[in-house]
Amino acid sequence: MAVYNFSAGPAVMPHEVLEEAKAELTDWQGSGMSVMEVSHRGKAFVACAAETEALVRSVMGVPDDYAVLFLQGGATGQFAAIPLNLTAAGDAVDFLNTGQWSAKAISEAKKFGVDVRVIADEKASGYTTTPAAGSYELTPGAKYLHYTPNETIGGVAFPYIPETGDVPLVADMSSMILSGPMDVSKFGVIFAGTQKNLGPAGMCLVIVRKHLLGSARLATPTIVDWAGMAANDSMTNTPPTFGLYLLGKILKWVERQGGAEGIGKLNAEKAAALYGFIDGHDFYSNPVAVESRSIMNVPFLLANPELDKQFVKEADAAGLMFLAGHRSVGGMRASIYNAMPREGVDALIAFMTEFAEKNG
Ligand code: PMP
Repeated sequence: MAVYNFSAGPAVMPHEVLEEAKAELTDWQGSGMSVMEVSHRGKAFVACAAETEALVRSVMGVPDDYAVLFLQGGATGQFAAIPLNLTAAGDAVDFLNTGQWSAKAISEAKKFGVDVRVIADEKASGYTTTPAAGSYELTPGAKYLHYTPNETIGGVAFPYIPETGDVPLVADMSSMILSGPMDVSKFGVIFAGTQKNLGPAGMCLVIVRKHLLGSARLATPTIVDWAGMAANDSMTNTPPTFGLYLLGKILKWVERQGGAEGIGKLNAEKAAALYGFIDGHDFYSNPVAVESRSIMNVPFLLANPELDKQFVKEADAAGLMFLAGHRSVGGMRASIYNAMPREGVDALIAFMTEFAEKNG
């Protein structure tokens, strides 16, 4: 039976990549050892890390005036790293609050003595919307604007990139990085935990405009000091070597899907099929404003929530895994990241059709 993994993260990885890694797990590049067992400072691994960085740059179209960093501590680590690297105590920083991941970043920033201004908050809609472009005003002198282009729990995504002029735009792309083409030059800082579109957990990809480097607070821990990490090719300390190696393979896989353009097209088709089905069926609904729907995380509700447990159980038995919504919101959520094949979405729709017929 085919198994399709709809987990929000750690999440499905391309099968081909796992097969490749398996084939060379005990003998990497003829070394007789796995990639996990070699020194990060040895010639072979340094070349592997450099290749991964070059692939990030080419597949994502990262301009030369940006540093590409591979850090530990996940995206959550960067919630602290951002104010440490970009502010002094007392500086104002702006946030758009579109859900739980924005909220977590906001509360972390507050620990660092910055003047946190939430200039838009979608509370009134129950975090099912994004603020309209131009409906919020940046705080004069703010050091950056932080936002979450894709809220993983709510399934809410910005349909546009906020315009911030000279103020650095900081984007938590954890759950939508490389889901389609993206103009990196619009951002000051992009960061993403790797456990959704970029491989296993344990690493955070940070892409930062070089002119923002060098103003970290003195107390910034070495492992999140972007300037130091940039100067040391992310090897101030031991980097997450296995994640770096797998990320390279995933990026090559994305290239084989037609790069960011190609994968974006496939993602749009998968999402359109699933939303189209949900919207056309009385038994299912999606609570998010149509223009703000995520193409990566698709939450949906059953007409009768008493059937939620049964739905998850039967889906599980049919090989459709991890469809329960986040524990804080309930309902269902299908995460359909890059590595979810179209067949997986079609299998989900077929299952949902049958479930509604039996229980509707
Ligand atoms: N931001 C977003 C949008 C996320 O989805 C997540 C994880 N689900 C995080 C931040 C936190 O990531 P991590 O667990 O890597 O710290």
